[in-house]
Amino acid sequence: MKKVLLLCLGVIVAAAAQGPRFTGYTVASTVRQQEIEKTFTSLPSPEKAREYHRFLTSDPHPAGSERNHELALYIAEEWKRQGWQDVVVHRYDVYNSAPRQISVEMVEPVRYAAGLREAPYDVDPDTRNPRVSGGYLAMSASGEVTAPLVYARGGNPEDYDVLEKHGIDVRGKVVIVRYSNPYSYRGFKALTAERRGAAGMIIYSDPAEDGYTKGAVFPDGPWGPETHLQRGSITYDFIVPGDPLTPGWASVEGARRITPEEAQSVPKIMAAVMSWHDAKPLLEQMDGPEAPKDWQGGLPITYRLGGGRVKVHLKVDMDNSVKPNYVVEARLRGTDLPDEWVLAGNHRDAWEFGGVDPSSGTASMLELTRALGEMVKTGIRPRRTIIVCSWDGEEVGLTGSTEWGEQFAADLAKKLVAYLNVDSSASGPNFQGSAVGSLAPLLLEVSRTLQDPSGVSLYDAWKKSAAADTSRFAATGGGERKGAVDDESLVDTRIGSGSDHTVFLNALGRPVIGLTFDGPYGVYHSMYDNFYWMNRFGDPGYRYHTLMAQLWGVLSLRLANADVLPFDFGFYGRDIGMFLKELCDKPGQGGAAGASAFAGCRAGELDLRPALTAAGEFAAAGRELKRATDAALAAGELDRRKAAALNRRIMDVESNWLSSDGIPGRPWFKHMLYAARYTYAHLELPGITEAVEKRDWRTARGEATKLVNALARNTALLREAAAGLKRR
Ligand SMILES: [Zn+2]
Repeated sequence: MKKVLLLCLGVIVAAAAQGPRFTGYTVASTVRQQEIEKTFTSLPSPEKAREYHRFLTSDPHPAGSERNHELALYIAEEWKRQGWQDVVVHRYDVYNSAPRQISVEMVEPVRYAAGLREAPYDVDPDTRNPRVSGGYLAMSASGEVTAPLVYARGGNPEDYDVLEKHGIDVRGKVVIVRYSNPYSYRGFKALTAERRGAAGMIIYSDPAEDGYTKGAVFPDGPWGPETHLQRGSITYDFIVPGDPLTPGWASVEGARRITPEEAQSVPKIMAAVMSWHDAKPLLEQMDGPEAPKDWQGGLPITYRLGGGRVKVHLKVDMDNSVKPNYVVEARLRGTDLPDEWVLAGNHRDAWEFGGVDPSSGTASMLELTRALGEMVKTGIRPRRTIIVCSWDGEEVGLTGSTEWGEQFAADLAKKLVAYLNVDSSASGPNFQGSAVGSLAPLLLEVSRTLQDPSGVSLYDAWKKSAAADTSRFAATGGGERKGAVDDESLVDTRIGSGSDHTVFLNALGRPVIGLTFDGPYGVYHSMYDNFYWMNRFGDPGYRYHTLMAQLWGVLSLRLANADVLPFDFGFYGRDIGMFLKELCDKPGQGGAAGASAFAGCRAGELDLRPALTAAGEFAAAGRELKRATDAALAAGELDRRKAAALNRRIMDVESNWLSSDGIPGRPWFKHMLYAARYTYAHLELPGITEAVEKRDWRTARGEATKLVNALARNTALLREAAAGLKRR
């Protein structure tokens, strides 16, 4: 009897030593971490998330407003109560933008004064809040003009080319453009109109994009009603984000400031925004050629390009001036590695109530911090330091995060393990996760351990919604091919701009992750994006708010407690190879096979073979390091000194993707793998890609050489790391 029992125990011990392991963890630390995560995920609550959300969305809180300052102080107090340390409210005096008076009036052939207001609905008392503003576009120039109106569809360069073919000159005129699909950032529409010589620009929400063409509208459905206005900024933050008067340095007290006239990111054009309610009277009076078929929108009219019959009087009076922005910061100091930081952040400023954007994210963040605070009160502390930040001015120009990132650049470059961004946390049930290539496998791994409200794992729910999302396939040329999405392409590793991850990734070279749940959502940046909308359509039970707090927290804890940071450079290298192959003249020429298949990969006069070979070597070194790390961790406890040296090395990989000169023409953007187009769309290998598109082969070769050198540097780094692990 006794003997048998002992035998059984022996089997159990042996099984435990080979038991399940999280990436970057030994078997023993996995068991510990599973306990920690189990405790943590039991803490966030939908009721609490809803309470936070109600409070945050009770009043408009744009950047620079007194209400947004009050919310900063509220969050600081809340974090102290929740048990967070080192709570600081940072103040940055930045160039802000608020409306004084905006008017758009059709003066010919009939008079029509646009209301530029959103209609209230009795079912939703918030829509009667007197502090809601009319429609405006932040950072518009001030001025006044009376001029003919021209319809320029999405306001992108190719649209103006079509107008030109029809003999329509927009110089000195006012253009009216639509918010468009695929999305192009309104600041790019403004820059394009400015470059084409237009005197002013009006953007409106056509029902084809986010209104009745899509489905039932507010307050009966999630889509935008007749008078909904998509406010927003037109700052040229794709050139340089943050405070326009301190481009590339922090706007702290005493900082040097340039003038608004010198600032590259401040538009020179007047711009206003409209609902389709106000745009329709103008559009139906237009004369001139009938607009092309794919320019016709969702209104029951014939869209015309504009032959001069409609004249509008546009008047914009903005208060563009320096105002304080407030970034709230707090931390849980790490027990073992206080100088390795995991950062979680969300912006606080909203155009109005910010039901989805961003107060859903802020509510999730306050649940995240409450749960982590509770854990610390019971004596469970993270090994590395976890920092949280509530950003300001994101909507104006990614301002708060950029200034904070610039202020602490030197520390962040050395200490920041990863930045986990949540802007909007929930507008529906469909998860979308993005990450740099090295962190994509971690996001996948964590998604398997969490429970989706639909009853399956988050991973399974994610796979299902991704398979139904045809836009994923359209982007890769697969047309309407629906079906399974393989694990490798589930995480979006093509990271553009438009949120607070930008400074950390593009300027500081730190790894980033972005998380959101989305769904049908037609009230973006309007006053209908509010508490009522969330409770009727977006996330009525606050279950996705809660799941976001869990996911965000588990990712933070997984990074904070790992023995070896869970980066996967084999995956990253494979991604870089894929980005390079997309530049080959003949698509598919590179193939999926070995290096020999890349023999002919050229982009015009640029030979991409050396870069592909270097990416292949980096990927191989990444796989080798992963094998060595897995073997060491599976064998048991890793020597602390060895682990520290290894972590130090692998944290440097992301920094090595920075080019000190930045990408050609945009020196603030230093990352060689990732940037955004002016539309905010993702742009891989920006230096090489933009040069190839311009057929500037000299620049393309220079950029490719920089990439080859960075790949070689990182390959050597990974090989040293693997060798260090094997050394006794
Ligand atoms: Zn946002």
